[in-house]
Amino acid sequence: MSADCLFCRIVAGEIPAARVHEDELMIAIRDRNPQAPVHLLLMPREHIESAADLTDADAAIAGRLLAAAATLARSEGVADGGYRLVVNAGVDGGQTVSHLHLHLLGGRRMQWPPG
Ligand code: AMP
Ligand code: ZN
Repeated sequence: MSADCLFCRIVAGEIPAARVHEDELMIAIRDRNPQAPVHLLLMPREHIESAADLTDADAAIAGRLLAAAATLARSEGVADGGYRLVVNAGVDGGQTVSHLHLHLLGGRRMQWPPG
């Protein structure tokens, strides 16, 4: 855990968040500033700064995040209509919290290209 990392503190329960899933590798919470009717953040318990830091050693957590997204999309009722998974990486990618997380956005029609 990184003591000055917001998401590490949420994982540890030091900062409250609306949890919708947790298992031994990851948790999922509702984004506090939702950009769609459904906006979840899926993150590893382990502090990994960015998608740019992933290696083959992280295959289990990377796979779990994607599989959990599919499960959560169903439980949130957006799987049939469609949804978007986003991973912002680095400054130009729009990443503001330096702990890997996957956005699950759904419940409205998404635009392309993204902003
Ligand atoms: P990103 O810009 O990809 O790093 O995404 C960070 C996301 O974290 C943003 O969508 C924020 O709204 C969200 N966020 C920041 N602080 C919190 C918090 N305390 N609880 C829930 N979501 C948060
Ligand atoms: Zn962290």
